[in-house]
Amino acid sequence: MGFSDTVTRQLGGETLTLCYQCGTCASSCPVAKITPRFNPREVIKLSLLGAQDEILSGDAIWLCCSCYNCQERCPQKVEIADVIYALRNMAFEKGDFPNIYSEFMSALMNDGRIVNISQFVQNKREGLGLPHLQPAGVEGLRKILSATKFNKLQKQEKSQ
Ligand code: SF4
Repeated sequence: MGFSDTVTRQLGGETLTLCYQCGTCASSCPVAKITPRFNPREVIKLSLLGAQDEILSGDAIWLCCSCYNCQERCPQKVEIADVIYALRNMAFEKGDFPNIYSEFMSALMNDGRIVNISQFVQNKREGLGLPHLQPAGVEGLRKILSATKFNKLQKQEKSQ
């Protein structure tokens, strides 16, 4: 089975092969406006061409800001942002993802939150008359992370 077939079997990746490369997504993309490192049309094209390593090991799929502009405007109804989520999931399964996600994963497993509660936030809440945030209950969360095998995901170190 080719790479594009594999992508279309992933949740979110089903519409990949509908793309006819018109470029509407790229011209709607706020990230593509500020960096040549991300172009949704290019991500779709490379996926269709079977450039698995370039897509799953590159940084482009992690630069999408999930604004869904592309998806709203695609004349072919390619669910581009969702295809990119499918590609991210595939990269995750390979252990190929940016370091920051390892930190998010540890924080989630240990504290039940991705972002720690800072004293700044607590003070701000106090000033607004809101109660302090309490530590999240991690036991239930750990069960979910374990049942979904999230806790088994490991980042693979790349040889340079
Ligand atoms: Fe392909 Fe849709 Fe992007 Fe056009 S807008 S290039 S059809 S994904």
